[in-house]
Amino acid sequence: MLKAESWHNLKESARKWSTPLAKQLFDAISITGPVPLASYMRMCLTGDVGGYYTGAITADAASTGEAARDQFGKKGDFITSPEISQVFGELLGVWFIAEWMSQGRPSEGVQIIEVGPGRGTLMDDMLRTIQRFPAMAGSIENIFMVEASKDLQLTQRNLLCGKDAASTDSEGGSKSVTKYGGKPITWTDSIKSIPIDPRKTPFIVAHEFFDALPIHSFQTAPAAPKPPPSSTTKSQDTLPQTSSSTTASSSSSDTPSLEWREMMVAPVPPTTSDPSPSPEFQLILSPSTTRHSRFLPETSPRYHALSTTPSSIIEVCPDASIYATDFASRIGGTSSQPKPRPSGAALILDYGTATSVPANSLRGIRSHKLVNPFSEPGLVDLSADVDFTAIADIALDASEGVEVHGPVEQADFLEAMGIRERAGALVKKSQDEETKNRMETAWKRLVDRGEEGMGRVYKALAIVPENGGRRRPVGFGGDVGGS
Ligand code: SAH
Repeated sequence: MLKAESWHNLKESARKWSTPLAKQLFDAISITGPVPLASYMRMCLTGDVGGYYTGAITADAASTGEAARDQFGKKGDFITSPEISQVFGELLGVWFIAEWMSQGRPSEGVQIIEVGPGRGTLMDDMLRTIQRFPAMAGSIENIFMVEASKDLQLTQRNLLCGKDAASTDSEGGSKSVTKYGGKPITWTDSIKSIPIDPRKTPFIVAHEFFDALPIHSFQTAPAAPKPPPSSTTKSQDTLPQTSSSTTASSSSSDTPSLEWREMMVAPVPPTTSDPSPSPEFQLILSPSTTRHSRFLPETSPRYHALSTTPSSIIEVCPDASIYATDFASRIGGTSSQPKPRPSGAALILDYGTATSVPANSLRGIRSHKLVNPFSEPGLVDLSADVDFTAIADIALDASEGVEVHGPVEQADFLEAMGIRERAGALVKKSQDEETKNRMETAWKRLVDRGEEGMGRVYKALAIVPENGGRRRPVGFGGDVGGS
């Protein structure tokens, strides 16, 4: 990690940037100064200029109805659990069926909501499974897909509604009907566009969504000397324009107090020797506090507990708070929007920490390999560990009508959901040895408890209606039907 340096001297007009987004970022930073890591991540992942997920759909792709590029699968950059085995989505479908049963089998008003649905495979496997329970299938009023990428929205529609299915665009999103019982389905790019209605029962799934949300990163450093009262500095949000005032030195007091400083993204000088692709940006520690560093680390006692340790690092994800608050409010109601009877459930699966606050977890992935997250902006997938405790705390704070279960390790969750039996039945039914072996390897990968195994690294968290902890959801210590 690098401290501040003379990033502003890097106005090399002739510099060749790896992507148009790299140039746009450089131009923006030249004007505003280094930007928070969260801004960098947001532009790289969902920005209009060649964002990783939102990169412009090509004319070719639009005319053939195919996605312009594919982030998923063997030929893409990464592979996710629903893409590895259909059993994953089926078991998640069973989880929601069990919740629906436990909540008195509502006959109407059920919404199925997915955030970050990728290729749509998970929703497809879930809906196929739910179809086998006609009473629940019949209770579904609408399916909502929250997807930032127009390209992926198209891929999802082709899968769930049939190739070239008609759709209509309205203010509330793009609408179509699924091949599953002709149920209406709506695409939006933000969950805020889905109205919150206290009469509805929302079943919400988020798989590998939270890890894609932008994070802020903060580090404790000796408090910078206060500027003289006559200072005309307008804002502390931008870095000073001189390279001499880089890092804060200890304050003059005997016991220098610490303050949270924000990790900012700045360009690096161009290199000719580095093997391509070399990073074009880097993280630097802001020499003074920023708007975010003064506010976000104050939002949880967990961060506060680390504030007196020198060089503590914390990652804070405000968007995760927004989503956790939204899920809890839909399920449990809020004081301003009370729900007569909490209903619905949210299931969040992702990789991250169960108890500790994530630190230094930003990673870049391209073609199944870890790469520098500051190289080839827009072409590299960026993600960070999910802070499950933060999500749980925020959900509980947001609504008195919810309780939270987990996080539990994915292996425990899927084993409790019966992955062994379901996968065993599928393997038995398959005709040839090769398919059998492929299926075996696939489901075992999902519950691999090795150090880096998916069964251990990935975790599941459930937000369900408050019931005094009397009924544990299946997979979190409870049985189907509730116990
Ligand atoms: N759940 C899928 C895809 C995970 S990748 C799977 O497991 O295979 C992350 C998904 O979230 C992609 O579909 C991406 O386009 C979407 N996404 C990322 N950031 C988003 C945001 N801020 N708002 C809405 N969707 C987003």
